[in-house]
Amino acid sequence: MDNKDCVFCKIIRGEIPSTKTYEDDKFIAILDINPKTPGHTLVIAKDHFKTLLDTPTSLGCELMDAVKNVSLDLVKQGKAEGFNFIFNNGEVAGQIVPHVHMHILPRKSGDGLKMLV
Ligand code: 5GP
Ligand code: ZN
Repeated sequence: MDNKDCVFCKIIRGEIPSTKTYEDDKFIAILDINPKTPGHTLVIAKDHFKTLLDTPTSLGCELMDAVKNVSLDLVKQGKAEGFNFIFNNGEVAGQIVPHVHMHILPRKSGDGLKMLV
């Protein structure tokens, strides 16, 4: 299931270049083009669902597995000591790309990033 005009669907189809750090049959992880911290990664479902609310529950659970695996790799590579996971759902909540994805923000002491909560 994909969407002709969606940026992330285009990345998944290989029509827009990206730096891919993980892939399985249901998800890819790519580096965000505008990183908030070094290694800022997006874990993106290969199927085009807009938000978690219209994503099948099982796929939503598997998304967390993928997020965990990518995060463990970042720790192993020495690129993170902790994480903020950001999950924007809906335009009003700041979601710019309407294709379900989780932000992984690797954190290191002294990185200076200020969070909302
Ligand atoms: P959200 O929809 O949760 O607000 O965030 C979408 C994220 O996708 C943004 O952080 C933005 O920088 C990133 N993004 C948008 N277009 C591209 C692109 O073409 N390539 C990559 N790697 N990231 C993108
Ligand atoms: Zn899409």
